[in-house]
Amino acid sequence: MKKSAADIREDLKAHVDFLAEAGAGFIIRGPENKAAAAAGASGAPSSQNPASGLPALADRPPQTADEREALEEIDRRVLACTLCELHRFRTRAVPGEGDRSTELMFIGEAPGRDEDLQGRPFVGRAGQLLRKIISAMTFREAEVYITNMVKCRPPENRVPHHEEIEACSRYLIRQIELIRPKVIVTLGKTPTDYFVPGREGMTARRGRFGSYLGIPVMPTFHPSYLVRNEGNRELKRMVWEDMQKVMALLGKK
Ligand code: URA
Ligand code: SF4
Repeated sequence: MKKSAADIREDLKAHVDFLAEAGAGFIIRGPENKAAAAAGASGAPSSQNPASGLPALADRPPQTADEREALEEIDRRVLACTLCELHRFRTRAVPGEGDRSTELMFIGEAPGRDEDLQGRPFVGRAGQLLRKIISAMTFREAEVYITNMVKCRPPENRVPHHEEIEACSRYLIRQIELIRPKVIVTLGKTPTDYFVPGREGMTARRGRFGSYLGIPVMPTFHPSYLVRNEGNRELKRMVWEDMQKVMALLGKK
């Protein structure tokens, strides 16, 4: 697909904005950062590429027409789902959006108010920041897949309950199996606890690849947390450092 000049300008602007906010020093990936990437990846996944210290990527057979149809069926089921209490509060369920055969999948917590009204993931303030981060990673929004741990908005944006996550995870797991991303990014504690469980807080767990179904999973801070701590450049810098590891794994510079 060819980008229009306007698209390219938009991408570049978001890219530059996020990098500037994260601290311009992190535009340059020096040997220091490579060492950090290697250290960050150590110990976590089962298979590793010894040359780079990054996890090995699984083979990825092409998606079939049946799989594409199955993904559409998941969306339809989510839109009509009543498996957990959250269906009673929703305006619209939010199955996810983007490229259903993407290399890179982002998983958030749950739809918020804007997402519930529009039926799209990450469209509020946190979403705008996530979309800037994606641009800074030199991906277009349409090239990645963005979804959430639960597909309906919890009342007052509370953290989803265990039973709700259990009920809804069937959709997300199936989406992962059918999309077969090369890398997953979990945003914040809710999806990180599910895919790479651990006792430590996000500050300790971010930046180190875990593994789910053989897919490398990079936990990082939730963009809402960055929005709530807007003046804290260190948080943005850390997220950018985590995303650089993902880019390195996907061969992006
Ligand atoms: N926060 C999330 O976790 N997901 C969204 O879709 C929006 C905000
Ligand atoms: Fe169904 Fe998930 Fe919505 Fe619960 S949150 S009603 S399981 S789609």
